[in-house]
Amino acid sequence: MDIEVRLSKTHGFGVFALRDFKPGEVVIAWNTSVRLSHEQAEYVADAEKVYLHPYDAHSYVLVQPPERYVNHSCAHNTEVIDFCDIAVRQISIGEEILSNYETDGAGLSFMCNCGSLHCRGAIGAKKTSEISP
Ligand SMILES: [Zn+2]
Repeated sequence: MDIEVRLSKTHGFGVFALRDFKPGEVVIAWNTSVRLSHEQAEYVADAEKVYLHPYDAHSYVLVQPPERYVNHSCAHNTEVIDFCDIAVRQISIGEEILSNYETDGAGLSFMCNCGSLHCRGAIGAKKTSEISP
């Protein structure tokens, strides 16, 4: 195990590094086996809807644990590329794995309180009109 899920100071559960990662290393390769059509996605429970991530033009992937527990931070240390969380800088053992929801393609809008010096506040708010067709 390279990572573990435990309670986070950021938000609920978080994902933490159990070893060091170098920039460019895959921290988590997502399990993309649970895919739903846009129609099926309407029946997903509201609490689960935040875990829907666009897969292709016709479907979503329902993001599974542990990757669903990766929190957002404006001082993120990973980015989502091809359904993997990839380290964008050196990550040390014990650090929380943090993603940038603004560029991960999921289109979530929320108020961020990650506490980083460069916190951008309203995440995704400006992009809502660009995301919906
Ligand atoms: Zn923030």
